[in-house]
Amino acid sequence: MKYRDAVLRQHRETSSRSSTGGTEAAAWASENPRSEALNVRARRLLPGGVAHDVRLAEPFPLAVARAAGSRKWDVDGHELVCYVMGHGSLLAGHGHPDVVAAVRDQAARSFHPGACHELESDWAEAVIRLVPSAERVRFTSSGTEASLLALRLARAVTGRSKIVKLAGHFHGWHDQAALGADPPFDAPDTAGLPEQISGSVAVIPADAGVLADVLRAGDVAAFILEPSGAAWGTVPLPGGFLAQARRLADETGTLLVFDEVVTGFRWAPGGVQEAAGVVPDLTVLGKILAGGMPGGAACGRASIIDHLGALRDDPRRVTHPGTHNAHPLSAAAGVTTLRLVSSGEAQRRASTLAATLRAELSSVFERCGVAGRAYGESSVFHLLFGPEPPDQRDPATLKAGLARPLSTALHCSMLREGVHLFHGSGFLSIAHTQADLERTAGALAATLPRLAAEGLI
Ligand code: PMP
Repeated sequence: MKYRDAVLRQHRETSSRSSTGGTEAAAWASENPRSEALNVRARRLLPGGVAHDVRLAEPFPLAVARAAGSRKWDVDGHELVCYVMGHGSLLAGHGHPDVVAAVRDQAARSFHPGACHELESDWAEAVIRLVPSAERVRFTSSGTEASLLALRLARAVTGRSKIVKLAGHFHGWHDQAALGADPPFDAPDTAGLPEQISGSVAVIPADAGVLADVLRAGDVAAFILEPSGAAWGTVPLPGGFLAQARRLADETGTLLVFDEVVTGFRWAPGGVQEAAGVVPDLTVLGKILAGGMPGGAACGRASIIDHLGALRDDPRRVTHPGTHNAHPLSAAAGVTTLRLVSSGEAQRRASTLAATLRAELSSVFERCGVAGRAYGESSVFHLLFGPEPPDQRDPATLKAGLARPLSTALHCSMLREGVHLFHGSGFLSIAHTQADLERTAGALAATLPRLAAEGLI
């Protein structure tokens, strides 16, 4: 205990907490000594004290002990309404009893048979039944791996090497995806990329005229995009863009790839492609696909995906090993989750709750006399602070998110009121309730005056 107190004191002295997030951050910090102590320990073990860049937070990241339904409990014992929901994986809520039972059951049978197993076919059947573009499925361990695989398949099938993506759109952290996701979009998003990568990826705005010019050069293997618009609709696409992209891809022999890692099974049981009626050549899946376990998939036209099954001496063969592809525990969670969300009722319920929440949060802004609103589609929401951006589809404004002192204070104040936002946005699930929405609207109503008092809005 003495040791912990000493390292905590040292951490507090060296931390930059007082300069960012102001009183709210300081108050939250003092109410969360266990999260802080865990962060002190983790910072000696994990770079930045976290396992995912998105969790880097000031004054220190929240640590959670357990979760159930729409709620979770942090290590200091506070109960929180969760809008992170496994980064959007948990449309059925935390710890749905059917999913837990399926994973338990499979764990008792076999973690990893090192052989084909029945659940991988059950899982693929569910995907093919639900996702319009899916004729064949290859499972991976993550959305990043699925996007890497889809782009490799596209290059193999077309014999072209170039990839086109949209500014602000995120497709995981592999090399060809690590450009143009973060503002200012014209530089790599990370250090450590091979020099030649930037020559093989074109990052363009969501503009059909620009897309036409780029694709008509005839050297593009794939055009990949988040069909909801960047970051699950944070930056909406222009109306009709998906149909235009489909037409241009057909005209130029380019493969159209929808990254539905977030939107798959959420926008509709068959994702945005079902909701919008535009079917891509390849689809990248993750998150809800595996019901909260690690997993992803590249799926699409059999003539494309079957390059993976080609025999060893076929020069068109695309290789794809992977120790944990279609891992039985992920398959168990995935099959069960897809069963729970296959009728469309889950999406309708979560979307209705999200629409109500967006309206309630927007009216809190109005009542508090603060410029801003909640927006979004399907079962998600995004908070917009300040005056309306002049261009409602400008990724530089919308993708930049909130400036640092405001984002930290908002996050900490909402946590203090029992609500865990996901960087000013959130995912709903079938486990959320009207009581959760009321608590969230109340939390924002308590937070906005505090942010105003600190001069942050
Ligand atoms: N594509 C999109 C649209 C995503 O949002 C994400 C993850 N947030 C990925 C790909 C990468 O998925 P994963 O984190 O499973 O690698």
